[in-house]
Amino acid sequence: MTHPSVSMMRCVIVHYHEIALKKGNRPYYVDRMIKNLNQATADLNVGKIRKVSGRVIMELEAGSHWDKVRHRLRMVFGIANFSLCERLPHTGDGSADLETLKEAAGRAVLEWRSAGNGFETFRVTARRAYKQFPFESPEINRVIGGHIKEISGASVNLDRPDLTVHLEVIPHESFLYFDKVAGPGGLPIGVSGRVCVLLSGGIDSPVAAYRMLQRGCRAWFVHFHGAPFLSRASAEKASDLAEILTEYQYDSKLYSVPFGEIQRQVVLSAPSPLRVILYRRLMIRIAEAIGRRHRAQALVTGESLAQVASQTLSNIGVIQEAAALPIFRPLIGMDKNEISAQAERIGTYEISIRPDQDCCSLFVPKHPATRSTLEEVKAAESVLDVDPLVSQGIESATVEEFHFPEATRPAYREEPVSP
Ligand code: ATP
Ligand code: MG
Repeated sequence: MTHPSVSMMRCVIVHYHEIALKKGNRPYYVDRMIKNLNQATADLNVGKIRKVSGRVIMELEAGSHWDKVRHRLRMVFGIANFSLCERLPHTGDGSADLETLKEAAGRAVLEWRSAGNGFETFRVTARRAYKQFPFESPEINRVIGGHIKEISGASVNLDRPDLTVHLEVIPHESFLYFDKVAGPGGLPIGVSGRVCVLLSGGIDSPVAAYRMLQRGCRAWFVHFHGAPFLSRASAEKASDLAEILTEYQYDSKLYSVPFGEIQRQVVLSAPSPLRVILYRRLMIRIAEAIGRRHRAQALVTGESLAQVASQTLSNIGVIQEAAALPIFRPLIGMDKNEISAQAERIGTYEISIRPDQDCCSLFVPKHPATRSTLEEVKAAESVLDVDPLVSQGIESATVEEFHFPEATRPAYREEPVSP
């Protein structure tokens, strides 16, 4: 459906769903969503964004492009749906206000049609959130529906209309709109605290990150690459993935840890079937230390039960034991097809399938243990200098910052981690 460049439609009405269930905390959640809306559209010349009776209204200035705004809003968590709309201020005289709504709806419907959106059937769906408005919803529907029928020749179809004319009446003003655009749902970025995501170059971990962002978390990213034994391809992928995920949270930091040398130390002293578990426990410890610096309260991985040898129940338990923070695995019950489909929707899939050499493929045993026990893993670990290896990982990490939109990006810098 193309939208007419309706000159009168210069507002966006934003509806939220889950936030509305928050009762006492709702103002905090809505304020955070407004902050995020401002950030997401910082370079798009939008005007004031305000909350009104269970909705959020964004004014569009001359020169702001609806297509661009729409694209950005589809990525703002907390939004259930949104629409380009026309704002109709009330005068206080209910009959005159209903007349204004009628005129505006009639005019907008004709403009809609002349912009190439043919329709033969329609319905009017009025919502009266302002109970002092002297006309109830069915009456508004009847008056405005009758007018549209008369001027357009279209007929009413309540079940499957070609066009739905939405009207929302709140104190002081009403809003008129046609099509609803789906938002991403969830909760506004920033309301749920901070997590540290182990971001590989693969398909799963970016989706796991997305799912935590959608629950309102801010994510810090940690990637391990096989340098100096493998190429930096996986690190470049992690960087490209972090850039995409930044479109949802506006500011990100990616720590890239050279892990090849640490793995070599493991190989020198540990029995080969346990290597991958030992790598993972070291990764977890390093990620936890980095996460704690940023006050992360949980770690996140893209593990999915039994997808590979290291992701059996017993191995997951043994890996968890290396962390004091909880490790969240939002994909634990998903299969690969579901995860890949979501990766495509988020836009990370194409990056994730680029060939690389994941550090976990370095020095990998032919027969990794699928059922390790904590005792044997601890015994293998006891001959390693775990703390110095963890410190080595943290100290050799580099940090990259990401900002979205680009226009809000400060000067680029890549810096070593300060202790
Ligand atoms: P992914 O598609 O996310 O790479 P995977 O199916 O390849 O996952 P594994 O290789 O077993 O599964 O990795 C499990 C999880 O461990 C990953 O989802 C990620 O969270 C973390 N992980 C694995 N390798 C790395 C890495 N090189 N850097 C950071 N995290 C990693
Ligand atoms: Mg992987």
